Amino acid sequence: MKNLGILTGTTMDIQEGYQRFRRKYALGDRSIMAGLSQVGQKPQIMVVACCDARVDPALILQCDPGDLFVVRNVANIVPPYTCDKGHHGVSAALEFGICFLKVKHLILLGHSQCGGIQALINRESLGENDFIAPWVSIINKDRFNLHDPDACAKLALEQSFQNCKQFPWIQKPFMQKTLSIHLWFFDIRTGCIFTHNAEKQGETRWIPL
Ligand SMILES: [Zn+2]
Repeated sequence: MKNLGILTGTTMDIQEGYQRFRRKYALGDRSIMAGLSQVGQKPQIMVVACCDARVDPALILQCDPGDLFVVRNVANIVPPYTCDKGHHGVSAALEFGICFLKVKHLILLGHSQCGGIQALINRESLGENDFIAPWVSIINKDRFNLHDPDACAKLALEQSFQNCKQFPWIQKPFMQKTLSIHLWFFDIRTGCIFTHNAEKQGETRWIPL
């Protein structure tokens, strides 16, 4: 567990981590960061992940800066395509990644023990809140087995996938096979990723990566 040196004023792990980051990626004219600042970002992969502190896509996939274009939100939800004047942060990130960066792969990364999914299936689990309950209610829980939150998280991923296809600029490259959409489920306890196989049914649908 990292200490927060900035808050306590003592020499701390995150400051050491920052120095390690600079040595590895940013020092010298030929560093990865110097190169990225010259050529800009050209990620091939976009990830929609949860805010959960245990599910960091770049760490899990051991990526370098510039490799992944990431948007994170509570319960890694892709909302429906709602083209109005509202403030649609996730949709804006998708538009940036797909229309402007032209990523080739879109990974929807769900995970076990998701607090957002728990809040969806049991409103009392979190208590009173302003934004979380309305946000997670994007997911329709009618088909959910409320005793199995991880199965719910997998069904929520399938709903996000269906929502993706409402976005015209996602549907088009997806149909033309210039964009692949992947449904992945990360198991926190084992660190394993399972991928969704649309041709199979039930739990056999999810096979190890
Ligand atoms: Zn989560």
